[in-house]
Amino acid sequence: MTVNVGVIGVGMIGQDHIRRLTHVLSGARVAAVTDADMERAQTVADGLPGAKLHKTGQDLIEDPDVDAVVVASWGPTHEEFVLACIAAGKQVFCEKPLATTREACERILDAEVAAGRRMVMVGFMRRYDDAYRTMKEELAAGTIGAPLMYYSGHRNPSVPPSVTTEGVLVDTCVHDIDVSRWLLDSEVVSTQVFSPRRAGQAADVLQDPLLLMLIMANDVIVNVEAAVNVAYGYDIRGEVLGETGTIELAESSKIIVKREGRYSGRVPADWRERFLRAYDTEFQEWIDAVAAGRSTGPSSWDGYAATLVCDAATEAYRTGAPAPVTMREKPDLYMVGASGDGHAPTGTD
Ligand code: NAP
Repeated sequence: MTVNVGVIGVGMIGQDHIRRLTHVLSGARVAAVTDADMERAQTVADGLPGAKLHKTGQDLIEDPDVDAVVVASWGPTHEEFVLACIAAGKQVFCEKPLATTREACERILDAEVAAGRRMVMVGFMRRYDDAYRTMKEELAAGTIGAPLMYYSGHRNPSVPPSVTTEGVLVDTCVHDIDVSRWLLDSEVVSTQVFSPRRAGQAADVLQDPLLLMLIMANDVIVNVEAAVNVAYGYDIRGEVLGETGTIELAESSKIIVKREGRYSGRVPADWRERFLRAYDTEFQEWIDAVAAGRSTGPSSWDGYAATLVCDAATEAYRTGAPAPVTMREKPDLYMVGASGDGHAPTGTD
């Protein structure tokens, strides 16, 4: 079966997902596109033989020739499109964030629970990265005993001057927050944000770097270091300290060059280079699940949790005090092995 995918939002990441659906992966074709910028949507549709152009996301979702939907528009529009997909009974891959407020996320949870089956996958692609997956397998195997602390480093070479401290907490740290929940199999119960000495090259509106501390329900403490003007490359780091050892993400360079008494390797230029394969795996698993009539991957619950922790981190930065994360009771639909889930997730996956 070929899955006919409709894509809402054909900006930077929407076009990248269209490229992988069309040229890299198997089992899907892009059948329809739309965007607030109709000229952009028209240009993208022109490059896709047989693809329809729709005026609105709602029209695209209602199109009977669209089997499943990718939402890659601006964050505040996600709720409307995800709810419409659930109402239409169509599987939806929603780029992060699931939605931008607690209330919006809860409306999505309510709709999916009422529908009685999972239909939403949220684009937390780190869960599909080989290194993170191996780290999780080793943790689950008990290789280093129980995890005690986790360090998650998120370094960007630079960011546009428009990026704010809140933007870093919400758009950058969200990946560290999700991967912490997933790796450690536990929810975040409170957050605190510390502001170290500012980097001279950071824009005036930006506190850079930031240290975000997450207290997990299982008492593990996570330190997220976000430094978004490091100049030297895009560097994603991670190390779990366990009872009897550590597990660390290895350097991602494929080769090491040794010369003149020194050695060196490549640091990725940006997130596209670092997570290229993870995005491919993420989408292939989604297509395969849709074709098989089941759901997979990070759920609405994971999207909800991430939004709440980002909100708490923003509050903690504003007040300088710890901020609690209060979640509603987890519906059965999102429990491991729950009916309607259709896959065998590990922990919060
Ligand atoms: P972008 O380049 O600005 O693209 C978003 C597109 O959506 C734009 O073409 C925008 O049109 C369009 N749009 C806005 N409102 C719309 C609506 N109501 N209906 C249809 N189209 C609409 O942004 P991006 O960087 O691709 O990011 C898109 C989403 O992906 C964001 O939620 C972002 O957080 C997420 N993202 C995730 C990752 C990841 O690592 N998983 C990486 C990058 C981005 P206009 O330009 O005319 O507003």
